[in-house]
Amino acid sequence: MTNPTILTIATRNAHKAQEIAAILPAHFSVHTLADYPTLPDVDETGSTFAENAALKACTISAALPGLVLADDSGLCVDALGGAPGVYSARYAGEHGNDAANNAKLLADLAAMPAGTPGTARFMCAMCLAEGGQIKAEFIGKVEGSITANPAGEHGFGYDPLFVPTGYTCTMAELPAEEKNRISHRADALHQFLAYICNSGI
Ligand code: IMP
Repeated sequence: MTNPTILTIATRNAHKAQEIAAILPAHFSVHTLADYPTLPDVDETGSTFAENAALKACTISAALPGLVLADDSGLCVDALGGAPGVYSARYAGEHGNDAANNAKLLADLAAMPAGTPGTARFMCAMCLAEGGQIKAEFIGKVEGSITANPAGEHGFGYDPLFVPTGYTCTMAELPAEEKNRISHRADALHQFLAYICNSGI
């Protein structure tokens, strides 16, 4: 048996951390920023998911030993020009919460002309860094559409509004195992795992 690889996920979002830990094989010993409460938050000043993931991975890996993986993710709605995008967490304001963000998204879509398509995608940029240096970046996505009828208790964020392509229910109605099979986060993590395999880390 080889020793587990310690991997710090640069997030304080317990939902993201839980999904990532559930997808990764047991070979990884997953830490999160909850294990380092004194580390300051990293300001997400980038204009893309990839820029924000790189900012978080570089800053945190400069402060901690070992591999750091950062996830910056969100929802992009075509009819809203890609919004909420990198502002997904704070769409309804700095102190926006999931309910307020979802209500604003539905109100913005309801204000569009009748027949406007609700096509959308969840995006996830992951950046792997060590010692303040980027080692690799991965972009995952899942296509779908927005329903005006929120449903489901699983997941988090915009999951109750998002119907993945090929499904007739929302992401929040899917069991965690199914979301973790098809999600933008799973897509990025499978690319990360292929990189780890090929690089022999
Ligand atoms: P971040 O912490 O800046 O990456 O913001 C992530 C935000 O995007 C969350 O607060 C959610 O609003 C949204 N988001 C990201 N991933 C998901 C997901 O898997 N389901 C639902 N919403 C998500």
